[in-house]
Amino acid sequence: MDDRLAALERAYAHAARFLESVDSRPVWPRSGIDAMTHALGGRLPREGTPSSQVVDELAAAADPGLVGISGARFFGFVIGGALPAALAADWLTSVWDQNAGLTSMSPAAAAAESVAGGWLLELLGLPSGSSVGFVTGGMMANFSCLAAARHAVLTRAGWDVAERGMAGSPRIRLLVGEDRHDTIDRAARYLGLGRENVVPVESDGEGRMLADALAPTLAEGDGPVIVCLQAGEVHTGAFDPCEPLIEIARRHDAWVHVDGAFGLWAAAAASTRHLVAGAQDADSWATDAHKTLNVPYDSGISIVRDPAWSRAAFGVVADYLIAVQDDPFERTPEFSRRARGFPVWAALKSLGADGVGALVERLCANARRMADGLHAIDGVDVVNDVVFTQVVFRCGDDDTTRELGLRVLAEGTCAVTPAAWRGHAVQRCSISSWRTSESDIDASVAAIGEIMAGMHGSRRISH
Ligand SMILES: *Cc1c(COP(=O)(O)O)cnc(C)c1O
Repeated sequence: MDDRLAALERAYAHAARFLESVDSRPVWPRSGIDAMTHALGGRLPREGTPSSQVVDELAAAADPGLVGISGARFFGFVIGGALPAALAADWLTSVWDQNAGLTSMSPAAAAAESVAGGWLLELLGLPSGSSVGFVTGGMMANFSCLAAARHAVLTRAGWDVAERGMAGSPRIRLLVGEDRHDTIDRAARYLGLGRENVVPVESDGEGRMLADALAPTLAEGDGPVIVCLQAGEVHTGAFDPCEPLIEIARRHDAWVHVDGAFGLWAAAAASTRHLVAGAQDADSWATDAHKTLNVPYDSGISIVRDPAWSRAAFGVVADYLIAVQDDPFERTPEFSRRARGFPVWAALKSLGADGVGALVERLCANARRMADGLHAIDGVDVVNDVVFTQVVFRCGDDDTTRELGLRVLAEGTCAVTPAAWRGHAVQRCSISSWRTSESDIDASVAAIGEIMAGMHGSRRISH
């Protein structure tokens, strides 16, 4: 048999076994980094290994160190699963091995991005004609949008950043909510904006930027300014009130960016659309396809209202390129890259607009079910207002809360991840997987309840 097909057949067999077992194996891995390094490690062999055998060895060695992210009861961080059509399209993406940077290097990949991009704008209620870039994730989506923003606000201030760089440029103030995601600060660092120019604006108890705090902070300075809003805070799932905030920002000629890595998808469902009211009036938006949409890693989307600004940030002039207007590389920091449009196209096609809405509604309903279940456990407090897919809880003091989280991971029914919120240890549940059913929520609540009962019973809680 063709060596390629033999290797792929082995991969298919291992994939099938993994998918059939992922919901019944412990969600948290049985092996840590040291054991995994040992299993995969050793010296680079002088001689090669047949492809099929490599696949078998990789599958066997990696298995105990895999996290059950694609299963039904992984609730850590904010991480989606992989819809069947998107997963299969992702395999084909590797088989086809297209370079999606240039239209001429893959009309199919460029068209998939352009069509899926149009669908995304429609679903998310964003202006048609915006530039849509397919990047690795929310981090790079934030970076790409803020690169366009930097170019725009400096141009308006009479400074050509492409020509002159950042040294000596007018100072840009980047106004952010106190509870923005760390990737905003990282993007600001990559862009040379300077940490001292990242200005936090006070937020409320759920992590929403306060409109009353934005106006005075804007008025404290003048010159180029970018206001960075958030749709979906990673702990609480709370949404900045975009409508009043953008109205205030407009009075100061600010560029408004919205980090909606998972929350922008609220626009796709009737019952959550109000959460992002006004967000469509921003200048740029970052979101992920590998979270709420359940496309396999990695898949993020950067959206810029005026394509001229993303082109200004990322356009290239090179005579050897068969340039057509609006090549994909003009919208992203990468040049050669994976054809991420195929799995996004497949996810959207398999769900349809109604299906995406239903998925969002189901994730939110499961989050409420999780919160109700946790609330009913003696000693557990849900500390956030559950408006979307995120549930934050604690049980008694910080040590007990941390200990509970460790025991949940060790028990294996589900995974929640530890965090700090408003100075206290908490555990976070993010209901982001298409796989999660009501019975998965109930089984997880039951497991957490039993662990709690055991901790009360033993009285001595170690940490
Ligand atoms: C997850 C997340 C990010 C970072 O996205 P990646 O896909 O991990 O790069 C940024 N902002 C918010 C609000 C997020 O939830």
